[in-house]
Amino acid sequence: MSDIRKKVDALVRPEIRSLSAYHVPDASGLVKLDAMENPYAWPAELKAGWLDALGRVPVNRYPDPGARALKEQLRSALGVPEGAGLLLGNGSDELIQILLLALARPGACALAPEPTFVMYRMIATLVGMPFVGVPLREDFALDRAAMRKAIAAHRPAVVFLAYPNNPTGNLFDRADVEAVLAESPGLVVVDEAYHAFAGDSLMAGLGSSDRLLVMRTLSKQGLAGLRLGVLAGPGAWLEELDKVRLPYNINSLTQASAAFAVAHAAAFEAQCARIRADRERLYGELTKLAGVRAWPSRANFILFRVESRPADEVFARLRRAGVLVKNLNAAGGPLAGCLRVTVGTPEENDAFIAALKDAL
Ligand SMILES: *Cc1c(COP(=O)(O)O)cnc(C)c1O
Repeated sequence: MSDIRKKVDALVRPEIRSLSAYHVPDASGLVKLDAMENPYAWPAELKAGWLDALGRVPVNRYPDPGARALKEQLRSALGVPEGAGLLLGNGSDELIQILLLALARPGACALAPEPTFVMYRMIATLVGMPFVGVPLREDFALDRAAMRKAIAAHRPAVVFLAYPNNPTGNLFDRADVEAVLAESPGLVVVDEAYHAFAGDSLMAGLGSSDRLLVMRTLSKQGLAGLRLGVLAGPGAWLEELDKVRLPYNINSLTQASAAFAVAHAAAFEAQCARIRADRERLYGELTKLAGVRAWPSRANFILFRVESRPADEVFARLRRAGVLVKNLNAAGGPLAGCLRVTVGTPEENDAFIAALKDAL
């Protein structure tokens, strides 16, 4: 045993050994409000058509490596401006990995405000790229002066801005985003994973800068199981990134399912509209509770801090009552005492609020 440990320590890069694996808790039997999934299944009236489309996929053949048909559909569905290119990933996580693999030259670094989506830092570490986190202001807005200073000092190859931000749920001020874009020497990736709930986008602004990329995903909209992320931006960048992509990263079943879903986008948009309305109701309920501070959200989740009891204890009590949320307390700093709840069905939201009242 100790022999293998020595070998592992000798051969595996130290920055990998010191990482803890991305932990996905077992949710079986629980009301699952931890991962920003859409709680609704495919509408019953679409299922037969979808299964029919899947039945026609020649799975004995390799997928179309360029996913050309799907890309054409996405281009109009997502409103990608004329002249911008598209790159598809196995989830936007893979797109982040492709970007950082391509940019990780010696001396290059990545930068993002924090707290934010943890994969930016994690994947940067995986590819051996230094990562600079710049604290958000106390109200979770971008700290313009701190960003300007950090960008000038570190000259990052890429800046990630989650718009809206995860786990805080807020949409950064557009003028602050544009200031980051103006002051950055490298790429700025605006990650619009929660676009369906946000009511704002930088997609139409592609082309206003040759360093702006906009990233989307179908995950939070109702297709987390498919794994499809989309990166839009100037062709000159995407052509290089495409060389890093493994040729068949989007499998045939995902291509066919996504094509079918995009052709029936209205059904998913109806679900997202429902979720947006329920988010407002859930936020209203949370703000009524004594000992809870909730932040307004432009995404499909709500960040809240519990003040009457340690967050770890509230989290455990919720779990015992059958409700799984995300515990962010361990991240500390501005997230100390914080939990994050995904907007579920009205019944799930009610179950969560009832369990939270008992847990506080
Ligand atoms: C969930 C999330 C993603 C990951 O999306 P996938 O396409 O499922 O990999 C990307 N960015 C942000 C900000 C997220 O919260």
